[in-house]
Amino acid sequence: MENTDILIIGGSAAGITTAISARRYYPDAKILLIRKEKQVLIPCGIPYIFGTVGSPDRNLIPDTVLTKSNVGLTIDEVISINKDTKIATTMSDRTFRYEKMVLAIGSLPLVPAIPGIELDNVFAVRKDVEYLQKVLNALDEAKDLVIIGGGFIGLEFADECKKRGIANVTVVELLPHCLLLACDDEVCVRVEKKLSQRGIKVLIHTKVESIAGSKKVDYVELDNGQKTKADVVILGIGVIPNVQLARDSGLEVDEKEGIYVDEFMRTSDENIFAAGDCTRKRCFFTGRPSVVRLASIATMEARVAGANLFRLRHRSECPIGVFGTVIGDLAIGSAGMTEREAKEAGFEVVTGEAEAPDKHPASIPGTSNLAVKLIFEKDTRVLLGGQVYGSMTAGKVANFIGALIQKRMRADEIVTFQVGTHPMLTASPISHQVENAAEIALTKM
Ligand SMILES: Cc1cc2nc3c(=O)[nH]c(=O)nc-3n(C[C@H](O)[C@H](O)[C@H](O)COP(=O)(O)OP(=O)(O)OC[C@H]3O[C@@H](n4cnc5c(N)ncnc54)[C@H](O)[C@@H]3O)c2cc1C
Repeated sequence: MENTDILIIGGSAAGITTAISARRYYPDAKILLIRKEKQVLIPCGIPYIFGTVGSPDRNLIPDTVLTKSNVGLTIDEVISINKDTKIATTMSDRTFRYEKMVLAIGSLPLVPAIPGIELDNVFAVRKDVEYLQKVLNALDEAKDLVIIGGGFIGLEFADECKKRGIANVTVVELLPHCLLLACDDEVCVRVEKKLSQRGIKVLIHTKVESIAGSKKVDYVELDNGQKTKADVVILGIGVIPNVQLARDSGLEVDEKEGIYVDEFMRTSDENIFAAGDCTRKRCFFTGRPSVVRLASIATMEARVAGANLFRLRHRSECPIGVFGTVIGDLAIGSAGMTEREAKEAGFEVVTGEAEAPDKHPASIPGTSNLAVKLIFEKDTRVLLGGQVYGSMTAGKVANFIGALIQKRMRADEIVTFQVGTHPMLTASPISHQVENAAEIALTKM
């Protein structure tokens, strides 16, 4: 039996961040992290393994992030937790007694029950070095790739695989547009146009009925009766929280939504906290269940859990959902609700749009346009969401908008916000997109 003050289970975004924060707040505590995998991937970097980055071993989080914080590391799988004796047991029959535990056990890819899903060369996106190497090997032999799911992950895979030189890349999306859960139609349409300019075929409003082949996949069958040739199929349709260990240990869980936690990230057991993709989340705007699972949310929750272990310090925030991605030379960012989502949730909204060069004067080499759309609640003037597209500054501007949303800023407050500008770095102060979009919306209220 080994004793530790803090036992963290899971070694990805949430587990590592919990360890680093816990060390800052509890310098004398013995901290041990147990994770299943020998090597930890940068999860958000996975699509780039297939193009820009080139291989899984160039997309790893080094263990020095733990050793630098004097955190012990064990590679093993925890198979049971006894909450009463505070003992965790691993697959290799080791036992660990803890004072406080944090579950950072993440999520698993959603694998739909489509006929033929078990065929060779049909891959989910698993955060596993050896598995992704197999995907890479299969892609090296492939001419025809079908990606099921046109969300961020599916599109990033499509773009990167095209860069890798795969001749025919097809994205099949069930909804009326790609990226529809994060963007309004006009942004989705731009993204789809960019995908087709890059030689990627996009089939929207289309369902994969089955995957066919003898041992290995040969083609997918669509609900319109057409067949699309496929040497490889990649599933990018989302994730489900990993709750099995928590459920088997008697913690309160919802199979679909995750492990129940309070705002301090405590589970139903006062000595066990949870953070990251495995926890149950509530939408920032509506309080309804939220399916948004992002590294930014995982690490925020982990910082809260790590700080609160022996004394309550921070409260976590409900997810807003701040996304960013790049397709070719088109960067897209989104924070909070889309206009469509806000209306569906019952808000009366006013929008404002502004577009300007991302540097000033626009004659500076490398300048490109950045457009911003802001969505406000009409009566309160509070910012509900924003989308950004165009230049590579989109991610940073989306983060800025995310901060304004989280602080529930009103349009009239945003127009008096003091935004630093510089010719090489930002739009001109006169045409700053966020300020102008807010002012345009304000005049409509
Ligand atoms: C392809 C892809 C691209 C993404 N891109 C982005 C992006 O650009 N931006 C963004 O914000 N988010 C992105 N995400 C989402 C982000 O990766 C997740 O939100 C994040 O990984 C969650 O971290 P986590 O630590 O909660 O869980 P996970 O990353 O799922 O890690 C879970 C950890 O728990 C371990 N574990 C589980 N069970 C046990 C057990 N019983 N014993 C021991 N160890 C266990 C696992 O081995 C792993 O170490 C992306 C996800 C994917 C798949």
